[in-house]
Amino acid sequence: MNNQILQLYAFLQASRGNWRNAIWIECKFCLYKNQQCDEYLLAADRNGAPLVFSVEQFRRLTGDTPVKDECIAVLSEQAFEELYSSWLLWHIDWLKDCRLRQLAQGKEPAL
Ligand SMILES: [Zn+2]
Repeated sequence: MNNQILQLYAFLQASRGNWRNAIWIECKFCLYKNQQCDEYLLAADRNGAPLVFSVEQFRRLTGDTPVKDECIAVLSEQAFEELYSSWLLWHIDWLKDCRLRQLAQGKEPAL
């Protein structure tokens, strides 16, 4: 099955089928300025690990349009990195690309 569909399923399961139960994350000042970054939706899986989904990708796959002000909270990219700093340290390649973008693309944990 398509990886995007599996990720979407996991995200919807974690957010109880509704993007309004997710946290909106803005990557306005992405550290990787050479790439245009996105806005993201964050939910936590049953182990507390972050499940990140690109808002644009969500729109494309579902036809639904998440609205920032209707999400349960809004975080900056910096706040997300503080919140998950220990987890990110072990699961994401810090030098490669935006952490949110890596998570949204469903990269395997780099253990
Ligand atoms: Zn970014």
